[in-house]
Amino acid sequence: MKLARWLAAASLLAATPAIAAPDAPPKLVVAISVDQFSSDLFSEWRGKFTGGLKRMTQGAIFPGGYQSHAATETCPGHATILSGIRPGRAGIAANDWFGMRGEKFDEIYCVEDEDVAGSTHDNYTVSLKHLSEDWSPLGDRLKSLPGSKTRVFAVSGKDRGAALMAGRKADQVLWYDWRARGFTTYANADLRTADAAVPALKAVNARIAQWLAKPVIPPLPAVCTDKINPVAVGKLTVGDGPEDMPRTDKLDNTAKDFRTSRAIDLATLDLADSMVAANRLGRGPGTDVLAISLSGTDYIGHSYGTEGPEMCGQMVSLDARLGRFFAALDRQKIDYVVALTADHGGFDAPERHDIHAWPAADRAPLTLAAQAMSGLLAKQFGWQGTLVENRSLGGDYWFTPAVPGNRRIEAAAWLKVEVEKQFGDKIAAVFTKAEIADLPVPTGNPALWTLAQRVRASFVPDRSGDIYIALVNGQQPMPAGIRGYVATHGSLWDYDRRVPILFWRKGMTPFEQPLPVETVDILPTLGSLIGVLVPADSVDGRCLDLDAGPNSTCK
Ligand SMILES: [Zn+2]
Repeated sequence: MKLARWLAAASLLAATPAIAAPDAPPKLVVAISVDQFSSDLFSEWRGKFTGGLKRMTQGAIFPGGYQSHAATETCPGHATILSGIRPGRAGIAANDWFGMRGEKFDEIYCVEDEDVAGSTHDNYTVSLKHLSEDWSPLGDRLKSLPGSKTRVFAVSGKDRGAALMAGRKADQVLWYDWRARGFTTYANADLRTADAAVPALKAVNARIAQWLAKPVIPPLPAVCTDKINPVAVGKLTVGDGPEDMPRTDKLDNTAKDFRTSRAIDLATLDLADSMVAANRLGRGPGTDVLAISLSGTDYIGHSYGTEGPEMCGQMVSLDARLGRFFAALDRQKIDYVVALTADHGGFDAPERHDIHAWPAADRAPLTLAAQAMSGLLAKQFGWQGTLVENRSLGGDYWFTPAVPGNRRIEAAAWLKVEVEKQFGDKIAAVFTKAEIADLPVPTGNPALWTLAQRVRASFVPDRSGDIYIALVNGQQPMPAGIRGYVATHGSLWDYDRRVPILFWRKGMTPFEQPLPVETVDILPTLGSLIGVLVPADSVDGRCLDLDAGPNSTCK
């Protein structure tokens, strides 16, 4: 090109403004939670994605988002994503807490209805009864508008992932249940209706049945072979290749192990495809909502840690499958916006941290088990029986009814001092329930919150523990790695709190904002984009302006 023509062309280009995001509300909101997709995992992988996750790096990128609370688990995290409120306000103190099941003091699961006859913590009826009145996720808000035409669909590898993003008014909510050997829905819903609304349900469940009869673990993608580096975790070895072949001794075990394969997210997205196509989501008169919680990254993180070839295989597989999912939406010419984040972060197996230049990582000692706390109280106060419950090490510890009601504040204050004295080098802080209850709900930059403020953000007065023990940074709250569980999350440290928050819509001018935002900002952000009023006092977050220029998508 001659210089003059080049200059003319260049000036034309300069005069053409960047394509602005259309002012019309999107017709479909796709909200995606990649379970356990930490900011650390995102930063490691963001330059290597080629599929759907690459597309998510071409919109508004908030690489340092926060699930700002201390209880960094799946239930509290999912409860924030589309509701705009923190877990304490939502009523979800943890995945599981201890409380009364009828006459019995027992562990209660966040989305179970413990009043159903025969319900147990492990075998229960899924319900949203524990969610507070303030908890009103996007789908419920849209469905509550006069003359609403919104449809709301949700699908996940976990019941809590689907139910907590879907809300109370969703049209169809599907999740994988190992007991059902496939995807299922609410007990009081009609599975035939689900079959009609999601025609792929039967075929997906048939493929899962085939897998359970003859499991197949695909080979590692070629790009993952240089990640092979076996690491001994107790009697196990991780990092030696693709996921382990499932246990085939009992069908129950094989059905559980399906969750720890790359196949779980593929099945989840097959159902999401079917929900969109069969119901013409995004092509109706209203703005529809599709919530997808992808559980595979979490199961693989727990089973093999975050830095091995197994996680590499999962990232490559998920990225490719999400690319096909978005391509299908494009082919249907749907105007959609995607918000992608995670319910919490994660932390690699300490044994791998040790050989990866971070020897301070460790496993918490059994001396911090609830039984030991029970022993301390028994010796000091003379009370009999089990006095303290906690299924993990650190975090919330609950006093049982064997601790007299009028002595609990005194017992917690004494135990705090004793634990600090005996375990000073293993713990960062101990808080009593009374201390946390006295704190105001934190606001402002979540990176700067004190440890107590983090605990306050997921504190629910009648569901949180009587004391909270914060382990020192880098301690896995489990004494040893076992099959399916070599690494975890759930702490108040940033490796568990920080998650990417990514928005993408066609025509958007990309930008990146590295400073902290929160997952509770997602609802006001989407609400403003759709044009639905989200009163500021109904949420804990704020609208994020997704326009890279002087205009604002926040109204
Ligand atoms: Zn999770």
